[in-house]
Amino acid sequence: MKTSIDRRKALMRLAGGSAAGGLGLLAPGRLFAMDNLQASSKAGLPALKITDVKTILTAPNRIRLVIVKVLTSEPGLYGLGCATFTQRAYAVQTAVDQYLRPFLVGRNPDEIEDIWQSSFVSSYWRNGGVLFNAMSGIDMALWDIKGKRAGMPVYQLLGGKCRFAADLYFHASGRDFKEVEDSARQAMERGYRHVRVQVAVPGQATYGTSGGGNAGASNQNEDGPTNPRSTWDAGPYVRLVPKLFEHLRVKLGDDVQLLHDVHERVSPNQAVNLCKELERYRPYFVEDPLPPEENDHFRLIRQQCSTPIAMGELFNSQHEYVPLIANRLIDFIRIHLSQIGGLSPARKVAAFSEFFGVKTAWHGPGDASPVAHAAQLALELASYNFGIHEGYVFPPETREVFPGCPEIKNGYLYAREAPGLGIDIDEQLAAKFPYPAGRTFDYSWGQTRRPDGTVIRP
Ligand code: MG
Repeated sequence: MKTSIDRRKALMRLAGGSAAGGLGLLAPGRLFAMDNLQASSKAGLPALKITDVKTILTAPNRIRLVIVKVLTSEPGLYGLGCATFTQRAYAVQTAVDQYLRPFLVGRNPDEIEDIWQSSFVSSYWRNGGVLFNAMSGIDMALWDIKGKRAGMPVYQLLGGKCRFAADLYFHASGRDFKEVEDSARQAMERGYRHVRVQVAVPGQATYGTSGGGNAGASNQNEDGPTNPRSTWDAGPYVRLVPKLFEHLRVKLGDDVQLLHDVHERVSPNQAVNLCKELERYRPYFVEDPLPPEENDHFRLIRQQCSTPIAMGELFNSQHEYVPLIANRLIDFIRIHLSQIGGLSPARKVAAFSEFFGVKTAWHGPGDASPVAHAAQLALELASYNFGIHEGYVFPPETREVFPGCPEIKNGYLYAREAPGLGIDIDEQLAAKFPYPAGRTFDYSWGQTRRPDGTVIRP
């Protein structure tokens, strides 16, 4: 990186020298400066090639992360991106190593948009998970490289800051209302203004909580429709959540912003009813009330209440999210940067969403690596219609593997003021955290069932 910056300075000096040759005719200082800039712009940056692309698999928090490293012909200049698809990590590794690497070695890493577009069609069939995860890793790495080459944080390349930091939401949960309240209160004491609240439904495998049900049966391989091990009934859940909000508004007051994730596990009618019930408690947003297969039902929620709706973590392609934004059927777009193709499509979605009153709330739990959070943050700092950043508190091991993790202070996420994405990876340390042995993906998504054994959608 130092080499890149030194070369850039040398280039600027060279441009100045060349312009000075014509100084006699352009004596006024202003004209001289313009000539300098033109000379510099024509000269461009030194030629650069992608020399290698590699995947780094690491699990410092037992979450399977896939990091992509793009190396260039300039010694020491590389970029990092997040390609994590934790449930299918080895498939993404194959997509990067066996398919994108040979396609991209030798290309000019400055051509980010063309690399995205040509990679997109390079498999002919497109729009899916795995291939988009692989592209996401490459794309973020190229932005990282460009920022390092420019000597600027990526948010500068995206338009510069329009806020000092990104507001975060905290994940509070508990086995009962009191535990959720205590968890939320602790977050508020640490400066958080936004708290997502999830409570266990007694005896059920409830999303977003621990210890509240029958999830994690001892031998889930015995699971099946005739032998459900982990069950979920939406009825008690949709009756419980409004009571949780009532409790929290009484105990915590009106100032804290409350969020909730339905995680799609209810019927369309239940989703409409729950959003109506929660309206009186003024949630900041209700997330994923419907699965992606029920996009048309968002219109019914919209017609019947003003509860802000967040949606999108399961979306892959523009075909899924563009109509919801363009028809103003959601309030927050929650697509996952490491899933949709990276920073390049995300910046287009952010700009497009601004025109329809939709804010960004990129999906960012622990399976968005710190590299992905850094990329999100770069875009959030430069997007007028940023809404909220999903707060994930990186454990110490993760922070050590990824030097330059964005910093959390007073419920805000702050960028590292360094060129590129401002984050690095300690590969030797990353190697000390191999993927956990055993199951290679999270079985719980495909093994939670209704009481009659029917598998539910997450
Ligand atoms: Mg969610």
